[in-house]
Amino acid sequence: MKHRLPLLALLLLLAAACSAPNEPTRLQGEAQGTFYTIAYCDKQHRDLRPQIDSLLHAFDLTASLWEENSLIRQANLHQPTHVNSTFCHLLNNSLQMEQYTQGAFNCKIGALVNLYGFGFENRSDITDVQVDSLLRLIHQGQCTLTLDADSLPTVILSPGVQLDFNAIAQGYSVDLLAALFDSLDVTDYLIDVGGEVRAKGSKPDGTPWAVGIERPAQNKYSAQEIETAIALTNRSVVTSGNYRKYYEQDGVRYSHTIDPATGRPVSHSLLSASVVSAEAWYADAMATAFMVMGLERSLQFIQDHPDNPDIQAAFFIYHDGSEYRTLATPAFQDIIIQ
Ligand code: AMP
Ligand code: MG
Repeated sequence: MKHRLPLLALLLLLAAACSAPNEPTRLQGEAQGTFYTIAYCDKQHRDLRPQIDSLLHAFDLTASLWEENSLIRQANLHQPTHVNSTFCHLLNNSLQMEQYTQGAFNCKIGALVNLYGFGFENRSDITDVQVDSLLRLIHQGQCTLTLDADSLPTVILSPGVQLDFNAIAQGYSVDLLAALFDSLDVTDYLIDVGGEVRAKGSKPDGTPWAVGIERPAQNKYSAQEIETAIALTNRSVVTSGNYRKYYEQDGVRYSHTIDPATGRPVSHSLLSASVVSAEAWYADAMATAFMVMGLERSLQFIQDHPDNPDIQAAFFIYHDGSEYRTLATPAFQDIIIQ
């Protein structure tokens, strides 16, 4: 026999999932080793948590390096691995961004990320010989996506090549959630997965969604403070910073962003780069690429690509030797609200 909830209990449960009038529904949870916060206004007052959680779980099974049975972990064992369409998109988008950013973005550097201890292995003592030989394998190595005899997409990595989608994974998962909300006819939402944000429509009172950009933290344990806030309408904003994920050795701080040209963690004055784009994965990729390029090269890159609206609004926080400073491009200045 099926157990039926009394109608009143059912109504109370539904009410709990709904928001007060003029207040968006807010959900929080965990995904990809970080937290998500989602606000949305749904005329039908649906509780979308089950769909959100199952989407994020499926995504982790594809792209998370922390999920033991994920497709990316299997591929990194250098066995031919059948992959799904999300994996193919992540890989193709990453390879495209490698070209576009002149190599600053590179998803094949997983072995170096692990070597420096930012992956799931502990950092070992690192020698120049190790770094250089890995770098050679990465640059000469292949990452092949083919169709097998049954027409299933299959990825094969050559020795030394290990995939790492972390620089776009959170942004990409934000886009997948946005597609879910769109398919459910939710027209107003603000999705934040680990600080990667995408907004659509507006708040219930008609004003734009507001998003804060974090002030550089003293260290990884410092409380979050807001440096500036922007109005975000039908766009995404992603920030990459080197002040929360790093390691220190002999008083030197090493960033979790690797420069694929040198094989070493980047070390320059740029503390964070924020990019506003239509899609969150794109902003995520460019924010990481800008962290590799550093301030001057990033500004030059933006200037050299005036026809790309997805990189024109950018915000940089950098250290000038004595204190931190900020630089907002004109398109970014236009959306600052505070
Ligand atoms: P993000 O926080 O989006 O900048 O992503 C940083 C993460 O991306 C690192 O923790 C690495 O896993 C990976 N990564 C580091 N350097 C690069 C790079 N040059 N290109 C692509 N991914 C990178
Ligand atoms: Mg990124």
